[in-house]
Amino acid sequence: MTNDISFEEISYDLAYHGSDRALELAIIETIQRLPQEVARFALDQCRFLSVGETSFGTTLPGRIASDWQGSTENMWLLLLAEGMPGDDIHSVVAHEIGHAWLKHDRLSPNVPDDCEIQTANLVRDWGFTGKGANADYCHIDIHQPSSG
Ligand SMILES: [Zn+2]
Repeated sequence: MTNDISFEEISYDLAYHGSDRALELAIIETIQRLPQEVARFALDQCRFLSVGETSFGTTLPGRIASDWQGSTENMWLLLLAEGMPGDDIHSVVAHEIGHAWLKHDRLSPNVPDDCEIQTANLVRDWGFTGKGANADYCHIDIHQPSSG
């Protein structure tokens, strides 16, 4: 654990919109392992989404990405796969938080070419192992649907 935010406080402050309880727990565990200022960022400025296994898709209102004052400025939506393998889930969650932390707006032409490498290395520096912390893997296809 690399910050002093309690499990209970993270559970309370986390904005997770989905139905995968294992994923929710993994997000909480991931945030517990982040440096303090990044953990606070993840709780205050990130909204975590996943689409349930019984649903083909879910439409969610943009206001879920607003802060407590209703502003969407500097807020991030993190869409996560459900049923991720336990070996990789924490590093993948940390990886998506890393993109938000580094302000990688993939809809902007200004996103750096090496954003995957930057993010994977940051996640490794945070102490995670697995696909989300592996620059070689992230460079190829961490954001593509799993092939198996
Ligand atoms: Zn990435």
